[in-house]
Amino acid sequence: MVRKILQMHKELKDIGWNEEYVNQIDKFSIKQLYKALRVDYQKVEWRRLTCNNAACPKWIFISYLALQSRLLTRDRLATWGCAEDVHCVLCGTEDESHNHIFFRCLFSSQVWQNVLCWQSIHREARGWEEEITWLNAQCKGKQTRAEVLGWHWLQMFILFGRRGTNEISKRSQEPLQCWQKRCT
Ligand SMILES: [Zn+2]
Repeated sequence: MVRKILQMHKELKDIGWNEEYVNQIDKFSIKQLYKALRVDYQKVEWRRLTCNNAACPKWIFISYLALQSRLLTRDRLATWGCAEDVHCVLCGTEDESHNHIFFRCLFSSQVWQNVLCWQSIHREARGWEEEITWLNAQCKGKQTRAEVLGWHWLQMFILFGRRGTNEISKRSQEPLQCWQKRCT
C-alpha cells in the first residue's frame, strides 16, 4: 500500500503535479488529473467501426482483432507452421488472408455487395484497405445508414467464426441464404 502511494507520488511529480502546483489549484478536479495522467495516444483511423457500435461485444472484439490483422487466418497460421493448406475454406481459390476472407472471397463479397445494394449504395466491393477507409468515412455521425453499415460490417465477422462449420460449409449453401439465416 505504502509502495503504491509512493509510486503515485512519483507519477504525479513526473506530470508536474508537485506540492507547489497542487497548492496553487483553487478547485481540485478529478477530470483534470485524469487528463494529465492519461497519455495522449494517436487515434486510430478505424475507431468509428468499433466504438459506439450497437453490435454484440463478440463481433466488436473479433473486428478489433481483424482491423489489426490479428485473426488466425490460414496464411498467418502457415507462417508459424500450424497449417498445411492455406486455401480459403469457403471458395478454395485463393489463400485465406484478411483481405480475401472479408472482401475478395466469392462468398463474403456477395454478402457485402447485397448489404451495399440494400442500402442503395452502388459500388463494387474493393480490397481490405480501401473498404476499411471507405467504411470509416461512411460511419461518421449517427445517421441510420451509418449505424446499419457499421452493424453489418461487424456481422461480416460471423463469416470468419463460422467458416468451415456445417452452417457455412464449402459451397453447401448460397451465400445470401446462409447470411439471412444467421441474421434472423
Ligand atoms: Zn474464399
